[in-house]
Amino acid sequence: SYMAKKIVAGNWKMNKTLDEALILVSEVVNMVKDEVTGDVQVLLFPPALYVSTLKSYVKDAPMVSIGVQNIHQKASGAFTGEISAPMVKSLGLSHVLIGHSERREYFGETNEQLAEKVDIALANGLTPIFCCGESRDLRENHDYIGFVKNQLTESLFHLTAEDLRKIVIAYEPIWAIGTGLTASAEQAQEMHAALRGHLADKYGKELAADISILYGGSVGAGNAAELFAQPDVDGGLVGGASLKSRDFTEIIKAR
Ligand code: PEP
Repeated sequence: SYMAKKIVAGNWKMNKTLDEALILVSEVVNMVKDEVTGDVQVLLFPPALYVSTLKSYVKDAPMVSIGVQNIHQKASGAFTGEISAPMVKSLGLSHVLIGHSERREYFGETNEQLAEKVDIALANGLTPIFCCGESRDLRENHDYIGFVKNQLTESLFHLTAEDLRKIVIAYEPIWAIGTGLTASAEQAQEMHAALRGHLADKYGKELAADISILYGGSVGAGNAAELFAQPDVDGGLVGGASLKSRDFTEIIKAR
């Protein structure tokens, strides 16, 4: 929507040593400062171990913010290996990915659990980038739009309008993630429009128009412009191509 904030986010997943991460963040910050003009928010989601170090590297680039790839749904306690929303908040960070398909698939995260993660993120002043999307089997054989709408219903529709307004949505068809296979611009637009309509049915058209809905799934320098030109695509969530500063910068410039 032309009302919604434009966002390009990079999900580094479980990649990069600290030295490599410092090089990548420095390159991205420099390229963004030199080459990107206008109104776009750039979000980087490195491994959580690095966020406090990397945070100081983005200080001079007001466009760029750092977040984490996941949080636990509880505030604290005996959950070895996990990190919490209050911890993320205490570092002065603002964004968190919630419900990435890899978290859903490999760590069994359910819509119900993700609703709790959304709640604790919001309670700590963090902006959730809520990820949703269907598998190949759903796309080919079932009501794939109904499936993704239901992910929103079950994880977000308990929110007040005031809280819903703070959410960013990332539509990421699982069959397009890391596969080199992107949704066509038409396929992306179809789903984005359906999701915005679903938000409008529950929260009203005006609020729905303000929500940023990002596309993710093999976004690269070559296809970003066409995807981002769709009326309901407000930017992208980028995996593989966010590990290369030049490619990621070109994607940001395509917003
Ligand atoms: C992702 O996992 O968020 C993603 C979009 O990955 P890729 O760009 O590598 O498909």
